[in-house]
Amino acid sequence: MNENKQKRNELLAYTTIKGLNSRNMQGYYAEDKEEALKIALDLIEQESTITMGGGMSIDEIGLKNALKAGNYHFIDRDEMQDKRKAMLAAYDADWFLASANAITQDGVLINIDGNSNRVSAIAQGPHHVLFIVGMNKICADVDHAMKRARNVAAPINAQRFDIHTPCKQTGTCLDCKSPDTICCQFLITRYSKHPNRIHVILVNDDLGF
Ligand code: SF4
Repeated sequence: MNENKQKRNELLAYTTIKGLNSRNMQGYYAEDKEEALKIALDLIEQESTITMGGGMSIDEIGLKNALKAGNYHFIDRDEMQDKRKAMLAAYDADWFLASANAITQDGVLINIDGNSNRVSAIAQGPHHVLFIVGMNKICADVDHAMKRARNVAAPINAQRFDIHTPCKQTGTCLDCKSPDTICCQFLITRYSKHPNRIHVILVNDDLGF
């Protein structure tokens, strides 16, 4: 990576971490995917029960595979027949893994959801929530972050899930009320009531979408 871009990313990450800390959330900066994986594995205790609510960034740093191979109780909903049971297990997990749809430079997390299991577990339930977030998801403010979530993340997810929404056809949000909409709930996480619950690893890379 160009050294000027790297420096800017590092400074922006520390600005965002300062914002997270002011909101009772923990932030970390990783120079690359390898360092992000190391920070995550240092945080998650051995024998923890872990679930996740989707999130390409978690796969991209190799965290899911590392947890499945290690001494952890990883509940893989993709391998469970009973999806409702898998979703309910998240509420009592030690760790819930996620990636944000966007984060503001002063530490507000934005997430949108169709089924809403992901946003509900972020809001309440699991003892700890760990976000893996690429620098591509940092936005100036809540307005920009919401626009990113709806005009970038959601239309790409619409392609990924092959659903019938206007954004799948146009590449941008048309504020639909389609039965397939993935924008049923918007979660703005501006403060954590519980200390040491929400952790965010900012990775100096483009992760997810
Ligand atoms: S509201 Fe509808 S059109 Fe807009 S991003 Fe969500 S699913 Fe797509």
